[in-house]
Amino acid sequence: MIADPTSCHALALANIQVFPRPRIKLKPNIRLGVKTLGSSEQSALLPNRDDFSTSTKDTLARRVGHRCSNPGCCQPTSGPQENRAKSVNVGVAAHISAAAEGGPRYDSSLTPALRAAIENGIWLCQICAKLVDNDPARFTAAILLDWKSFSEKRAQSRLENRSAPEIQDPRLLKIERLMPELMAEMRQDLASSPLCRELIAISRRVTFCYPQDRRMFTYYLEDHVDLLSKLMILQNHGFIRDIRHNDVPRFAFEEEFADYLEQTVASG
Ligand SMILES: [Zn+2]
Repeated sequence: MIADPTSCHALALANIQVFPRPRIKLKPNIRLGVKTLGSSEQSALLPNRDDFSTSTKDTLARRVGHRCSNPGCCQPTSGPQENRAKSVNVGVAAHISAAAEGGPRYDSSLTPALRAAIENGIWLCQICAKLVDNDPARFTAAILLDWKSFSEKRAQSRLENRSAPEIQDPRLLKIERLMPELMAEMRQDLASSPLCRELIAISRRVTFCYPQDRRMFTYYLEDHVDLLSKLMILQNHGFIRDIRHNDVPRFAFEEEFADYLEQTVASG
């Protein structure tokens, strides 16, 4: 990822300035012979970073239509510059597993080639790239992979069905921001069982007798912070409805919400 244990090092390097010891006392804010290291020089000095190639970065951006892959953001990452011959880019090819040891979500089992491979990258805006690197415990590799699938599937839908409405419903953007781990799990559940519509929220310490005639998804209180509150928000927005039975929190997906979840998960 763009920020990793070498990030602090990188920031330090960004401020490296090489200049001869002055023989005269300089006025404030005046430095002679100053050389600030460029990004390529800094990168060359950073040890053991498995960075993406320019081609990989470009492909990551194109595969999501130059939009941030965070489902709760979806902001465009490129646009025109005042100079008509140039464009502005505010996107980042971020590492899912950090480019250097000790960084966010670093996976020591990956080879340098796999760490720099396109499968280990995700296209994000600069704010979201910073967000996921500053809080890797919340933004796990599984969540970033879910975001990547979501964003590529959405870009594919736009290409294949130009009349399809944009997924910019503020209610959906809000819940994607509030509960990324729950949305990721729900997407994966519906991909594996597309006909299932019921869910329960229980503790792992509880034994639940599942009905024989149909399947239902199970979400555990221990796996999701404030799970019942999150489900209430989904219910308040009309995405799920309460079908509680015997005091066990039990809900059904509304079809519109199930369609949204299914449309934004990779089929393979
Ligand atoms: Zn973003």
